[in-house]
Amino acid sequence: MSSARTLGELRASPFSENRLGSRRVKDELRDNLMVRLRKNGESPNDAPIFPGIVGYDDTVVPQIVNAILSRHNFILLGLRGQAKSRILRALTTLLDAEMPYIAGCEIHDNPYAPICRRCRDLVAKEKDATPIAWLAAEDRYVEKLATPDVTIADLIGDIDPIKAARGGHELSSEFTVHYGLLPRANRGIFAINELPDLAGKIQVGLFNIMQEGDVQIKGYPIRLPLDLAIVFSANPEDYTARGKIITPLKDRIGSEIRTHYPATVEEGIAITAQEAWTRRDANHHGNPVVPQLHLPAYINEVIERIAFVAREDKKVDKRSGVSQRLPISAMENVVSNAERRALTHQETLVVPRISDIYAALPAITGKLELEYEGEMKGADFVSRELIRAAIAKSYDTHLHGVSMNQIVQWFDLGGEIQLGDNAGAAEVLEGLCQIQGLMEKLTKLNVGPKDSPEVQVSAAEFILEGLHAHKKIGRNEERVFSAGEKQPKAPEKPMFEREEPGFGRKRSFN
Ligand SMILES: [Zn+2]
Repeated sequence: MSSARTLGELRASPFSENRLGSRRVKDELRDNLMVRLRKNGESPNDAPIFPGIVGYDDTVVPQIVNAILSRHNFILLGLRGQAKSRILRALTTLLDAEMPYIAGCEIHDNPYAPICRRCRDLVAKEKDATPIAWLAAEDRYVEKLATPDVTIADLIGDIDPIKAARGGHELSSEFTVHYGLLPRANRGIFAINELPDLAGKIQVGLFNIMQEGDVQIKGYPIRLPLDLAIVFSANPEDYTARGKIITPLKDRIGSEIRTHYPATVEEGIAITAQEAWTRRDANHHGNPVVPQLHLPAYINEVIERIAFVAREDKKVDKRSGVSQRLPISAMENVVSNAERRALTHQETLVVPRISDIYAALPAITGKLELEYEGEMKGADFVSRELIRAAIAKSYDTHLHGVSMNQIVQWFDLGGEIQLGDNAGAAEVLEGLCQIQGLMEKLTKLNVGPKDSPEVQVSAAEFILEGLHAHKKIGRNEERVFSAGEKQPKAPEKPMFEREEPGFGRKRSFN
């Protein structure tokens, strides 16, 4: 890292005038991206193009790469919770680790080509003794959520009468400008989220700065040839609902890139695993020791499938989408409910159960925009239905074709068991072992009698919840499982008819 403190030292450093003098932000992004593309070609797993962006490798990422190679300003279009902001923030990883600028300059002037009056005067006077400061990549990212009340003053600047009075300057002098967000982001990345919400005349101001580097502040023309990579995000549904992007600005946005929700449950699980706060074992500043978390695969799957099922459900508003933040928040609440139970019962292992997902309704209901039919039934009811559908699907992926007749019979003969989400594992396990045929099925979930009670209870409960989701057994509000309502003898689903091969023979040894 260069430690140049003056313009003279900078000239002799790797940040020479030859390299930096005319290099713009978009050149810098392009240069560093080219290096990364080569590395990624050599070892894709060790050198991802955008670290932490999951599920976009074949769709969104190549389009962003092309936009940056083309030195485009670009816009990400997509429904909420599709990692748009995250992608925009990840662009800072393509900036140099540190960038030199003229010390004290509010708009981080290029030492070789200052645009502000103060710095031009300073360099003329101090020459190679002009002091240099350094800016880290993360500090070169400015983000603004567009709202209808954003003004030109916010974005570009304002005449500061106090500055004018103090300095004895003419009001129109450059010295009297109080810079807005855009100039302050000079030589960096400026991101505007939800662009259509920006008033039309502000978009015109934005267009002028992108096009000509010229702006008018309160009638005074000021030339600010800023060096910026401007990126945007927008929700396509807002175009018609709330506002639009003015044509000349749209025309200046080089690439329009569509984002999407994870294409597969596996990708969704990977994103949720990355984003949700589940690694809570940090025992710093005297925190009590947190019990160890064991997260069964079927729990990950059910949580993720809630979002997938919701995105297909006609009671949920399609245009507003179902954010990836739904499974992420749900996961955090699920782990917390399991944590609460483990702490109450002095258990050393936190193992989430399906009942913890029902207990996570507060993290789910608020994230669903409902259609009229859904509104009539209520967010709670709809969410429970979604969870139940997610359980049924996950049950099928793990236990398809496994005969559960013996378990269903046990309930049909009057068996009942209560499995509250607050009940400790040890006490519940005893009851579960009474259900004929249940515990031996846990091997299908890679759980055996040697596993801890917490793990066994969670797996057994998943099977019972799955049977309930498929209407094979009943369950009431108090979480008492019992015989299902007797249905007319309809042809059963294959999964309950087929004895798994070899199983009957093995069972006779039990
Ligand atoms: Zn300056």
